[in-house]
Amino acid sequence: MKRLEKKIAVITGSARGIGYGIAEHFAAEGAVPIIIDIQQELIDAAIEDLKHDGYTAYGYVADVSDFDQVGNVIKQIIKDHERIDILINNAGITRDSLLLRMKEDDWDKVLQVNVKGTFNFTQKVSRYMLKQKSGVIINIASVIGLMGNAGQSNYAASKGGMIAFSKSIAKELSSRNIRVNSIAPGFIETEMTATLPEQVVKQYQESIPLKRMGSVKDVAKLCIFLASDEASYITGQTINVDGGLVM
Ligand code: NAP
Repeated sequence: MKRLEKKIAVITGSARGIGYGIAEHFAAEGAVPIIIDIQQELIDAAIEDLKHDGYTAYGYVADVSDFDQVGNVIKQIIKDHERIDILINNAGITRDSLLLRMKEDDWDKVLQVNVKGTFNFTQKVSRYMLKQKSGVIINIASVIGLMGNAGQSNYAASKGGMIAFSKSIAKELSSRNIRVNSIAPGFIETEMTATLPEQVVKQYQESIPLKRMGSVKDVAKLCIFLASDEASYITGQTINVDGGLVM
């Protein structure tokens, strides 16, 4: 028996990167991934790739930071699929800069996508999960939200905000059998980290006890566990996937 058989799983920012990896691993566990992203062509390509591997997935365009757009998309998903069992708030961006050079827009954009996007999806989806009296919400935060990082104050504030938001929502929704947890990945090999200079990557690797970058699979496997009944007594937690970087 697959661990997520027939579960409808909405995954934001899943046309590529960690989100796509989660969609792929969820599909292999029997779930029906719903790909949310901002570019239709990338969504189509992701669905095509999943189809090629024998999986069925569906896609919807939405900018997670747009409250009304998110509301409409969730309504449409419910119309098409009748329920949402799992929500993964994964869409996230960086706009790195040292504090004194940080533009107001860099601050606002990162908070809008990472924190407000998480609020938008969680509020709209939890309405249906409350009626269902079941659901799992997983927020993809970051170790940067726990330890901070020079040049990433906006990103750190957003990820720390997501973690605090998750704990509050876990307390609000637990009586209706809805679990909410955060995952804090460390340095994971994706396009987001592919742009880092080789020297910086080497330095990062040296600081990681397990001496390697993480893979998308490392994050996806934890998502499967948290979304499955195996984690039925786990809520309000932040679990690091970081090779031991933060202890
Ligand atoms: P990624 O490769 O940049 O993928 C993010 C996806 O989200 C992209 O498809 C992107 O679309 C989409 N997206 C961006 N803004 C959006 C919006 N407003 N609405 C809907 N979709 C949007 O990033 P990743 O490395 O997979 O990271 C995924 C999550 O993990 C993020 O929350 C990130 O902060 C977190 N994380 C990553 C790492 C890491 O090392 N990679 C470490 C810790 C945490 P476009 O491509 O069109 O922009």
